[in-house]
Amino acid sequence: MSVSGWSHQALAATSAISAQAAKPITDWCTPLVARLPKISGTDCRNSQVQPAGALSANGFPILVRDIAADPRRKQALKVLLLGGIHGDEQTASAIVFKWIEVMQKPATQEFQWKIAPIVNPDGLLAAKPMRVNARGVDLNRNFPTPNWQQDAPRYWANTTRSDPRRFPGKAPVSEPESRWVYDTIEQFKPDVIISVHAPFGVLDFDGPVTPPRRFGRLIYNRVGVYPGSLGNYSGLHKDIPVVTIELPNATVLPPDAEVQRIWQDMLGWIRRNVSAQAKLAQR
Ligand SMILES: [Zn+2]
Repeated sequence: MSVSGWSHQALAATSAISAQAAKPITDWCTPLVARLPKISGTDCRNSQVQPAGALSANGFPILVRDIAADPRRKQALKVLLLGGIHGDEQTASAIVFKWIEVMQKPATQEFQWKIAPIVNPDGLLAAKPMRVNARGVDLNRNFPTPNWQQDAPRYWANTTRSDPRRFPGKAPVSEPESRWVYDTIEQFKPDVIISVHAPFGVLDFDGPVTPPRRFGRLIYNRVGVYPGSLGNYSGLHKDIPVVTIELPNATVLPPDAEVQRIWQDMLGWIRRNVSAQAKLAQR
């Protein structure tokens, strides 16, 4: 859990760039793709992810791609797509880059997207990729669910037996990465959130609409509700549906055809359920 990593290299990159004047920093991709299965530097750069303005605990930018909906679509649904809240689930970030590539093909977009493939860059870039962030916090237990102060530490101590991989932090949204997700939900106001994980090979869902039955080979099966998890916070307390996609392997991506099937099934589910619910709510 060294903090020597990013602050130094990021500073080095910054000074090298400032020496050339006015050239934007674009090489965040090189260190990342070394950790991402089947994603090349070109794939990463073509995704056009840009620093969102927030930095990880070690000073690495949280990278985002915004994709607007076709302007002729009135009230297009807003989708927040998150990968890699857990840094040792490399496929969860890699598949999001694969999907960005698919999205760039059609000329127009049905939905408005905000996409962060790597919510926990320090975990991914650690000497050995790790679930927690650089400060040892499980970001997916750090969201401000009701009674967090009581429930999250108790759950951690009693149910996980103080597993260091599941430490919820000392206070809700104490971490820059979870704070960025929290702020993004407040500002972007997504209609649905898709959060990608591995390796349980299922779909989980929290929220007010009909859960998905299957995306590709992944079948709906509740994993559980935890104090401080994004699904619990957003799906159950903010009434914003959260689909948690658990890929079957943390380091080996599914075959390309399955990557596509999961994507298409997900779009179909959003189209049928999230939009239908939104229309109902407007009546
Ligand atoms: Zn995970």
